[in-house]
Amino acid sequence: MQAVKSVVILGGGTAGWMTAAALLHRLGKLGVTVTLIESSQIGTIGVGEATVPAIKRYFESLGLDAYELMRATNGTIKLGIEFDGWRHEGHSFIHPFGRYGIQAGPVAFHDLWNRLRAAGESAPLDDYALGAQLARAGRVFLPPREPRGDFEQFDWAVHFDAGRFAQYLRQFCEARGVRRIDARLQEVRLHPEAGHIEQLLLDNGESVSGELYIDCSGFHRLLIDGALHAGFEDWRHWLMCDRAIAIPCVAADPVAIAPYTRSRAMAAGWIWRIPLQNRVGNGYVYSSDHVSDDAALQALQGQLEGEALAAPNPLRFRAGHVRKFWLKNCVAIGLAGGFLEPLESTSISLIQMGIDKLLHLWPDTAMPPGFAVEYNRLSIQEFERIRDFIILHYCANHRAGGELWRYCRDMKLPDSLNHKLELYRARGLIVQYESEAFFDPSWVCMYANFGIEAQSWDPLANLLPIDELREVTRRLRGDIAAIAREGTTHREFLRLAGALAVT
Ligand SMILES: Cc1cc2nc3c(=O)[nH]c(=O)nc-3n(C[C@H](O)[C@H](O)[C@H](O)COP(=O)(O)OP(=O)(O)OC[C@H]3O[C@@H](n4cnc5c(N)ncnc54)[C@H](O)[C@@H]3O)c2cc1C
Repeated sequence: MQAVKSVVILGGGTAGWMTAAALLHRLGKLGVTVTLIESSQIGTIGVGEATVPAIKRYFESLGLDAYELMRATNGTIKLGIEFDGWRHEGHSFIHPFGRYGIQAGPVAFHDLWNRLRAAGESAPLDDYALGAQLARAGRVFLPPREPRGDFEQFDWAVHFDAGRFAQYLRQFCEARGVRRIDARLQEVRLHPEAGHIEQLLLDNGESVSGELYIDCSGFHRLLIDGALHAGFEDWRHWLMCDRAIAIPCVAADPVAIAPYTRSRAMAAGWIWRIPLQNRVGNGYVYSSDHVSDDAALQALQGQLEGEALAAPNPLRFRAGHVRKFWLKNCVAIGLAGGFLEPLESTSISLIQMGIDKLLHLWPDTAMPPGFAVEYNRLSIQEFERIRDFIILHYCANHRAGGELWRYCRDMKLPDSLNHKLELYRARGLIVQYESEAFFDPSWVCMYANFGIEAQSWDPLANLLPIDELREVTRRLRGDIAAIAREGTTHREFLRLAGALAVT
């Protein structure tokens, strides 16, 4: 058995460089070599600026300092996502990276909250999450090492300039001996009988071979689908948005940086706002069945808070994934593997999951098929779990007007999501499957904020006198609000952490 030692990555976007950096860092000393082919003529997708807390694990795995990386990429802190107008116009809530309230012994906070709600208590769930309150206050501090309760447990992620992030990783890889080729792929040579990839022919006349090929060619899917015909599982019937336009702009207030992403529901989709140190990223994700490209562009331009800093970047996509992420001697990572709209900023974390699985299942040159089967099983599960969570944001809406929103309320849901909804409605139970990316607090956040009501709850929650429960939670809300006010302003936090960019 000879472990794979030579890897060829096609694509130098976030996926290509993240993969190259991880492989070189983890396997370079063992003699594994990486060749990365990218085309500066084609370029990268140019979006992908909001992350989830898992990104910090990636930084750590490479020995990178998060603040240094933020300095290099105009990065900011992200405590969660504000959903504005998703339930209905005028309603807003934050999906924080963190927990809510306090447990009462074995009784989960959401059971207490459900009981309080049934007794007429109207305080929103946001009031019980320190992460959400900090975000609303525009303030930041790091999660305490020894939290006094669930309410003090929160986490953070980053927003960054995707181009600069790829650039940073490229330098990291170049220092570790990556071979980078700037050329366009022209032809893929397959083995005539076995059908695996033998050679990539480039427009500069070079031909490149390796033992393992990683397709990071983005939506082009040149290897996994173009050459190997993996096929595509299309989820448009559940996730109708298939286009986006992105425009960065000057921030209305360049000093006060919001420590969260904002997602504002629109007639035919939603608009993101991602604050960086030096600008704001904006984009309208929409369904082409429900709005024209021109009207979408106009709607986005109407929402820009400052002067546009670049021409509109129009993008087309399909929700879903390739049927096989690993096929013969090729593994697809990043957009080449699949895409779920960026509502919960999950694509970069899916790249991480792809890299982690590949490292775990690192093959020998015989490429035992069982490894691919396992990789594919896990990848499909990961996509399906995130898919269900994103669908929940759409199907639970109460928005007036808008054909898209009506469609989403009425559509037939995946059985896996129906099962979760049934058990939550019946008893406030949170069902978790294997490979979940979102845990109990995230599901509670959506159920509660979209007004999905639990008919009942853990009966142990009834053992606490309701007046006592009201009093404890009233004090808790006050404490959380007071602690949030003690945070530092976001810009000052970045300065103190050494994360402010020099330019
Ligand atoms: C509208 C939108 C918003 C998004 N927002 C987020 C977000 O907030 N958070 C998040 O986590 N993710 C987000 N994503 C996803 C994120 O952008 C991607 O996951 C990430 O950028 C990785 O892209 P990639 O590297 O797979 O593909 P790309 O960036 O498209 O890179 C593809 C690479 O392949 C190369 N290539 C293509 N064809 C050839 C060829 N013939 N020859 C040689 N090279 C070739 C290109 O030059 C490029 O280097 C968003 C995506 C979209 C569409």
